[in-house]
Amino acid sequence: MSTLRIAIQKSGRLQEDSLKLLKESGLSFSNGRDQLKTQARNFPVEILFLRDDDIPQYIEDNVADAGIVGENVFIEKQKKNDLVKRLDFAKCRLSIAIPRSENYTGVGYLEGKNIATSYPVIVRNFLAKHGVKAGIHEISGSVEIAPGIGLADAICDIVSTGSTLMSNGLKEVETVIQSEAVLLAAPRLAAEKKKVLDKLIFRFEAVQSAKNNKYILLNCPNEAIQKITDVIPGMKSPTIMPLGRPGWSSLHSVVNENDFWEKIDLLKSFGAEGILVIPIEKMIA
Ligand code: ATP
Ligand code: ZN
Repeated sequence: MSTLRIAIQKSGRLQEDSLKLLKESGLSFSNGRDQLKTQARNFPVEILFLRDDDIPQYIEDNVADAGIVGENVFIEKQKKNDLVKRLDFAKCRLSIAIPRSENYTGVGYLEGKNIATSYPVIVRNFLAKHGVKAGIHEISGSVEIAPGIGLADAICDIVSTGSTLMSNGLKEVETVIQSEAVLLAAPRLAAEKKKVLDKLIFRFEAVQSAKNNKYILLNCPNEAIQKITDVIPGMKSPTIMPLGRPGWSSLHSVVNENDFWEKIDLLKSFGAEGILVIPIEKMIA
């Protein structure tokens, strides 16, 4: 099988979760500091450690076959890359912020203003969509200080909690895009590499579904089995085993993380008792 070269961020906010995802997907590799690349010992994958901003270009140039970056970087760079999978981490948004003392009246407020950002393409598209003409001042870091030092009237930058904005006297007024980590790939991979990529995506999905689901065991009166099965149908159907105590059963199933607590309340109201909830390591439908 030919080796798939996958690029991840060499240091920064994406690195830890990218490495974790690869390891949880069963890849075994060493990742020492200052290493430029490493070969997985048990899977035909080579991992390249690069600056995240450069990854889309490396994929377009066929130096890497795939890579993990923020969707914000994917959209900004406009390279010939396919977004093949959303990865459910590094969630953030790109927002417009203005000085807190300003009275924001809507997107029209930005007309004729100067916006500092590291994302000129995304900001230009946003302004065009709203028919607003504003100046874009591209800077590569510490965007949030630009209004304070008189460099710009507004900024467009990544926000996760808003505390950085707050401490710079800014307020968030528009969300421009939502972002999360994504897996990118070169549009035309050789068949052998595509096969490796598909295997990797299959494993990513097993890891993700495991994270989003929990294994649940409970005891219930036999009359409640049907109602409980309707609430937690599991992957095909629950496992039901008789308890030593007549009229009672043990029911095993899978429950989604998102509506977990509402379901638990419902199950209790049907008479479920002794509910145990256990993490799942991998889940394959
Ligand atoms: P460098 O290019 O020097 O590696 P960077 O500023 O581009 O630095 P990071 O700050 O590590 O890189 O951010 C990488 C990506 O992580 C961003 O492009 C974004 O998708 C995501 N991200 C950034 N800040 C946050 C945050 N506060 N919460 C969640 N995700 C974030
Ligand atoms: Zn970067």
